[in-house]
Amino acid sequence: MKIVEATLFALGIPFVEAFAHSVRSRNSSDSIVVRLRAEDGTVGYGEAVARPYVTGETVASCLQFMERTLWPGVQAFDYPNWSGQEPIPWLRALAVPTGHSDKVVVNAGGMAAESVVAWNAARCGFELALVDCLLKSAGVSLGELLPPRRSVTYSGVITASSIEGAVKHAKRFKQFGLPHLKVKITGEADYERLAAIRAAVGPQVSLRVDGNGAYTVESAIATCEALAEFQIDSAEQMIPRGDPQDLARVQAASVMAQMADESLITLADAKALIEAGACRGFNLRLSKCGGLGPTLAIADLAQTAGIQVQVGCQVGETAILSAAGRHLAAYLPEISFCEGSYGSLLLREDLSRRPIHFGHQGLAKPLKVPGLGVEIQDALLEKYAEQIITLPTQVA
Ligand SMILES: [Mg+2]
Repeated sequence: MKIVEATLFALGIPFVEAFAHSVRSRNSSDSIVVRLRAEDGTVGYGEAVARPYVTGETVASCLQFMERTLWPGVQAFDYPNWSGQEPIPWLRALAVPTGHSDKVVVNAGGMAAESVVAWNAARCGFELALVDCLLKSAGVSLGELLPPRRSVTYSGVITASSIEGAVKHAKRFKQFGLPHLKVKITGEADYERLAAIRAAVGPQVSLRVDGNGAYTVESAIATCEALAEFQIDSAEQMIPRGDPQDLARVQAASVMAQMADESLITLADAKALIEAGACRGFNLRLSKCGGLGPTLAIADLAQTAGIQVQVGCQVGETAILSAAGRHLAAYLPEISFCEGSYGSLLLREDLSRRPIHFGHQGLAKPLKVPGLGVEIQDALLEKYAEQIITLPTQVA
């Protein structure tokens, strides 16, 4: 199946409330939605969330890379329709072909190509749009390829706002029955923050922390030790991305399970982390890891190595990434925690016709509608787009 048309929507959907962690605070979603049209008229949607402090991509460089590098490859390719093949190889065959072009120098938004770890957000945007398009064309749900093993239980994530604000959020999540909470920490008053949250939610709720690389090896070890009394299930990315041996030092000195997030972008990262014994958990995020195919490959490796996986999300993601994340979380053999599907809890309006956010106790059922399982409203794409780019179609 040939893809004949592509449109990029760089969005700015306002948040209901600002969300902060140690690196940044944001007030709106800056997702890029990729809309592809196949030669049979079927339309599919994918989503990329560019994060300069994660993969090195910015919205501007991501748009350029999609237009100059990915789109020519996608246009030239004849994609295999889904007709009952082995799902994982089929998904991996959708990896957007680029040849040497990952090396193409893109310099936009102040971000030079050399500082890009991988163009994974851009690739994820195209890969998900291809999956959605090709499966819709075949009338098949992604859930038929990746059969769900369970319903999914979502965690609440608590922004690094004031301690009073964090406690307010924790109480709201607890009222909603969420059994798992992740707390963003910054190195300032972490003990007081966790003490207040633990007191507010009681002993039954599972708590974990995410430092977004704000700590040194020494301060990470000290913080994990200080917070251990609050029964923290995992400490995510305490130190910045770097030598896996540094994270291994934190893990070796801490009783708390370390979870790699920004340190885990590529399959090579996963191998290096496992080899170094750097952590006990991986946070898998589709936009960070390059889409379903590459993320499943990392999950495979983790399972073999006895590393726990968590399915994470992007702050401000829309129903598209949330739906893909739901399929992934429902399919994987074992996950420790799952995040995402926050929809209109965070976004003023989400893109799907029917909400896909979770219900009471964080529970959500697998999605069964063809493609990724969301019906995207083009009118909302247009309403919230700060930029709409129709990519040039090459004449064969
Ligand atoms: Mg994280």
